[in-house]
Amino acid sequence: MSKNKSSESVKVVVRCRPMNDKERAAKFERVVSVDVKLGQIIVRNPREASASELPKVFTFDSVYDWNSKQIDLYDETFRPLVDSVLLGFNGTIFAYGQTGTGKTYTMEGVRNDPERRGVIPNSFEHIFTHISRSQNQQYLVRASYLEIYQEEIKDLLSKDQSRRLELRERPDTGVYVKDLLSFVTKSVWEIEHVMNVGNQNRSVGATNMNEHSSRSHAIFVITVECSELSVDGENHIRVGKLNLVDLAGSERQTKTGAHGERLKEATKINLSLSALGNVISALVDGRSSHIPYRDSKLTRLLQDSLGGNARTVMVANIGPASYNVEETLTTLRYSNRAKNIKNKPRINEDPKDALLREFQEEIARLKAQLQKRLGKKKKRRQRRRAVEGHDDEELEEGETEDDDDEDGDDKGDYWREQQEKLERERKAIMDDHSLVAEEKVLLLKEKEKKMEDLKREREAGEMLAAKVKAMESKLLVGGKNIVDHTNEQQRMLEQRRQEIAEQKRREREMQQQMESRDEETLELKETYSSLQQEVDIKTKKLKKLFAKLQAVKAEIQDLQEVHINHRQELEQTQNELTRDLKLKHLIIENFIPLEEKNKIVNRAYMDDEDEHWKMKPITRIEDEHQMMTRPLSAVGYRRPLCQHARVALIMKPDIRYKAENILILDMDMPAQTTKEYQEPVIAPKVAAALEDALRDEDEIQVDASRFHSSFAPTSASGSLKKPKSGRPRTGKKSGTPTSPFSPSSPGPPLYPQTRGLVPK
Ligand code: ADP
Ligand code: MG
Repeated sequence: MSKNKSSESVKVVVRCRPMNDKERAAKFERVVSVDVKLGQIIVRNPREASASELPKVFTFDSVYDWNSKQIDLYDETFRPLVDSVLLGFNGTIFAYGQTGTGKTYTMEGVRNDPERRGVIPNSFEHIFTHISRSQNQQYLVRASYLEIYQEEIKDLLSKDQSRRLELRERPDTGVYVKDLLSFVTKSVWEIEHVMNVGNQNRSVGATNMNEHSSRSHAIFVITVECSELSVDGENHIRVGKLNLVDLAGSERQTKTGAHGERLKEATKINLSLSALGNVISALVDGRSSHIPYRDSKLTRLLQDSLGGNARTVMVANIGPASYNVEETLTTLRYSNRAKNIKNKPRINEDPKDALLREFQEEIARLKAQLQKRLGKKKKRRQRRRAVEGHDDEELEEGETEDDDDEDGDDKGDYWREQQEKLERERKAIMDDHSLVAEEKVLLLKEKEKKMEDLKREREAGEMLAAKVKAMESKLLVGGKNIVDHTNEQQRMLEQRRQEIAEQKRREREMQQQMESRDEETLELKETYSSLQQEVDIKTKKLKKLFAKLQAVKAEIQDLQEVHINHRQELEQTQNELTRDLKLKHLIIENFIPLEEKNKIVNRAYMDDEDEHWKMKPITRIEDEHQMMTRPLSAVGYRRPLCQHARVALIMKPDIRYKAENILILDMDMPAQTTKEYQEPVIAPKVAAALEDALRDEDEIQVDASRFHSSFAPTSASGSLKKPKSGRPRTGKKSGTPTSPFSPSSPGPPLYPQTRGLVPK
C-alpha cells in the first residue's frame, strides 16, 4: 500500500432542511436558496431596511436542498470517505448546526425506513457489504459509542452509566479514551443493536432528550481492521477508524444572569464547541503555531480529524426560515472557514494495537493446543491398535499424524468407538462368571473411571474447539456470495450510482471553476470593434466588480459585528467569573483560618492528564503542615465515628459499622469446677429451738454469768438486742446461728458441715 503523504482539505457540505409545519403555519419567509449545480447557498437578509443589500453567497464542495435524499448524500459525499476507511484511513463525519436543523436526521435518520436512513445505518450496510464481497481478506469490525456532556465523557455502551471516562495519550497511537468499551460485531444487525443500546442509554440518562441532545456531543466509532496476505508473503493489517459525530446544537446558549454552579455549567456547555471553533480558526489562520486542541475533550479526541492524518467531511445543517437567519449565517461562516483546513491522510498499516493480530495469534495457539490433543489421541489409538492387534474396520488406515483437517464426524466416530469399546468391556466383565464378585466390582470400577475420564477429555476437547470456532466467527471473510446473481446486479447498480455521483461532482467543480475564470478570460480574449463598445463592456464589468466589492465590504462589516458580539459575550462571562472568584476569595480570607488555607494550598496540585486541580493524600512524613492531629471526637474509639455509625454499631448486626471490633464477644467464663454452697440441713429439734429463740419478744434477757468464767465479756451492757422484725428467718449464712455462744442453744455449737472437696 502506498502511503499518501499529500494533503487534502476538509470537505464541507451544507444541507438545508425543509420548512417544518410550524414554520409553514406561521408563514415564515424562506430566506435561503440553494444552487445545487453550482454548490452555492444564497441567503437574503429578511430585514426591510436592508432590502437593497445584496444577498450573501457561500460556495461549498456540495450543497443539498430540502428535496435531497439521504442516499444521494451518502453516495456523493460519504461513500468515498467510508471507502477510504475500509482501506485503512481514519475518517470523520461531523454534523454541525443549530438545534432542529437536521443533524441527527442526517447522521441517524429514520432507522426503520430505508429511504430515510442516515449516514450511520448506511455506513453499516456499506461496510458489511464490502466485506462480504471481499476476497482473501480477513476483517474485524468493532463499535464504540460515547457522549460528551458538560466536558465529561460517558460510555454509552457501559452498564454503569454513572461512570465518567478519562482521556489518555500515548506517543504511538495518540489520544484515546481509557476503558472505553468496544464490541466486536459480525453483521449489520449486530452493529445496529449496539447503536440502539447506546441510544437508549442516551435518552434514559437525560430528562429532556431534546434539551440533552442539543447540549451533548455523541460519537459513534467504527473500527475496521483488515488483514491481507501481501506480495511479500506476509500478513499485513490495516486499521481504519470511522468517527461519526453528532455535535451539540451550535446556537449560543445564554449565560446571562447565571451564577455559581449554573454559571460554571453554562460555561462548560458549549466549551467543546467554541474550542472546536478556535481550533478551526487557528488551523486556517496559518500564522498561529499553537493549535488549542487541549482546550476541550472534543477537540482532543478529534485532533486527528482536524489538521491531522484523517479524512474529514463536515455537514453543516441549516434551516430555511427567516427567523433563523442569524444562526444560519453563523453556521455558514463557520463552515466556510473549515473548508480551508488541510489534513494529511495516511493509511494505518500494522499498528501495534491491532486486535485482529491478537485474535489471529490466539486462534493459532488454541488450534495448536487442539491439534496436540488430537495427536495424543491418535498416537494412543495407534499404539492400542498395535498392541491388541485390533483390525477394526471402522478405523481408517490411512490416517497419519499430520492429517490436520480431521473433521467433526471423524472426531465423533472416535469418541463413539471408544465409548462402545468400554461398554463392551464392561459387559464382558459382568458376564464373566469365572471372576469373584469382589474382583468384578474392582474391575467395573476401573472401567467406570476410564469412562469418566474419557467423558472429561471429550468435553475439554469440545470446549476448546468451540472456543476456536467462536473466535474464528468474529473474523469476517468475504467471497461467499460473490456468485449470487442479485448481488451482482445490485453491485452494478451501486457502481452506476457512484459513477453518477462522481459525474455530478466533476460537473459542479467545473462550473465553479468556470465561474471564477469568467471574468479573467473574457477580458483577455475580447477585442473591441469600437471605443464605444469597449466603454460599454468595461462599464458593465465595473458595475459587476463594484457589486462584488460592496458584497465583500458588507461581509467584512458583518464579520466585525459578529466578532464584537462574540467579544462582548466573552467579556461578560469573564466579568461574571471574576465576580465569582472575588466572592470565593472573600470567603476564604474571612472565614477560613490561615493555617487551614495553607494546608490546602500545600496539598493542591495540578493533574496534567486530567487538567484538574487535585489534593495530595495526607501523609505523616515530611511536612508537618500536612499532619492531622487525632480528632477529639474519637474518645473511646479507635477513630472518629459519626452518631449514625455509633447507633448502627449497637442496633444492627451489619458489619459495615463494625469498624472497631468485627466480633464483639461476651466475657469468656471458665467452666465451673466447684459446687454451689448449700445450706446445711438443720435437725428439727434445733430448728424448734431456734424458732423459739427468734420468737417476737421485746427483749431477751440473757444470763451471761454462765459464760463469764470462760469468755471475755462481749458487750459492755451485757445485753444483746434482738434484730428488728423482717429479718429473714433463715439467711444463707447469717440466718443460722454460727456463734458457739448462742444464748438459746443448749446443745453443742452449730457449724455447717463440710463435705470435703468435690472430686475432679
Ligand atoms: P438536530 O439533530 O439538528 O437538532 P433533527 O435531526 O432532530 O435536528 O431534526 C429536527 C426535525 O427536522 C426532525 O423531525 C427531522 O425529521 C426533521 N428534518 C431535519 N432535516 C430534514 C430533512 N432533510 N428532510 C426531512 N425532515 C428533516
Ligand atoms: Mg439532534
